[in-house]
Amino acid sequence: MAGQGTRRRTASKAPAQEEQAGPRTCGPCRGTGKLLSGAGGTQHAVVCPWCEGTGTEIPDHDAQANPAERPD
Ligand SMILES: [Zn+2]
Repeated sequence: MAGQGTRRRTASKAPAQEEQAGPRTCGPCRGTGKLLSGAGGTQHAVVCPWCEGTGTEIPDHDAQANPAERPD
């Protein structure tokens, strides 16, 4: 590894998507509100814990606090 110094990131404008204040499509379920889960051996659809089935990203939402399925 040749030391070429530290690359500095130029402060650039954030992408337009970052500037949008409106609702954003939930990434994990891609806006469908459902996720496929393989829990239990059979793949089946569950309500997306990230958006709670709305398909829209919920700011500061903790999916781990309300998982779609809890292991018994
Ligand atoms: Zn979702």
